[in-house]
Amino acid sequence: MEHLNFENVIEFVSFDKLNDESIKKSAEVNAHLAECEACRKIVRAAQLLYDEMLSECRDREIAKEKLAETLGEQMGQF
Ligand SMILES: [Zn+2]
Repeated sequence: MEHLNFENVIEFVSFDKLNDESIKKSAEVNAHLAECEACRKIVRAAQLLYDEMLSECRDREIAKEKLAETLGEQMGQF
């Protein structure tokens, strides 16, 4: 797998239900994270942001949108 893209990161940190598809994707992402420090940093930052936003608005969809916005700005700097 190549580096995670923006959408991979958003999806990965905001999974709210586990189904076959999300389990498969998570496994792929985790396998990549195990060997890639750069992506681990991005995912860790995204996870913190998402948790923060979720605790503020308590709505997964809104938190996900806000995360996409904020992360979009931040990833532009990487
Ligand atoms: Zn990577």
